[in-house]
Amino acid sequence: MPESASAMWLSRVPTTNKVAFITIDDGALSRKPEVIEFIRQAKIPVTMFLNSPAATKYTPYFKAIQEAGGMVENHTITHTSLKGKSYEFQKKEICGSADKLAKLFGRRPTLFRPPFGNKDATTLKAAHDCGAQAAFFWTQTVDKGIVRYQTSKKVVQPGDVLLMHFRPALMDDLLGALNAIYKSGLTPALLEDYIG
Ligand SMILES: [Zn+2]
Repeated sequence: MPESASAMWLSRVPTTNKVAFITIDDGALSRKPEVIEFIRQAKIPVTMFLNSPAATKYTPYFKAIQEAGGMVENHTITHTSLKGKSYEFQKKEICGSADKLAKLFGRRPTLFRPPFGNKDATTLKAAHDCGAQAAFFWTQTVDKGIVRYQTSKKVVQPGDVLLMHFRPALMDDLLGALNAIYKSGLTPALLEDYIG
């Protein structure tokens, strides 16, 4: 790999397939047990961008979602905004988390989401050097069951990436996201099936 190689930066997946992607971030704040059952029974493809300390503390919870088909990806150790920080600092945050998640879940993350979506060129280089092929922003956020669109056209487009968090209202968020995806004529798909 050339030294200048960087992870791709994506807000959405370049595809014309009628699919959208559900991503769930963080992990420290709230972990509702019913979320596991819902994801398992409804076979909802989800990608979890986890902070490694939360993943360490609550491994069985996230492992249960992994066993239900969910994927564990990287969201740094300390959830610090990386933009403007040194390469060494960013690499420690990204590689440190990737190493830990690989150990816990038996697979090294290939995707990365920077905390708050804040990044610079150094972030994408460090992400690449830590094994990430792509780093992700998002197209819609979902909170308390409400989908917030980035554009005035209130429709989920093919390739869109919906962001929600491990918060108390995650069940509502999942239902809101699924409703918006289906209403737009799409189905949820797994991000990792489309990237890499
Ligand atoms: Zn976050």
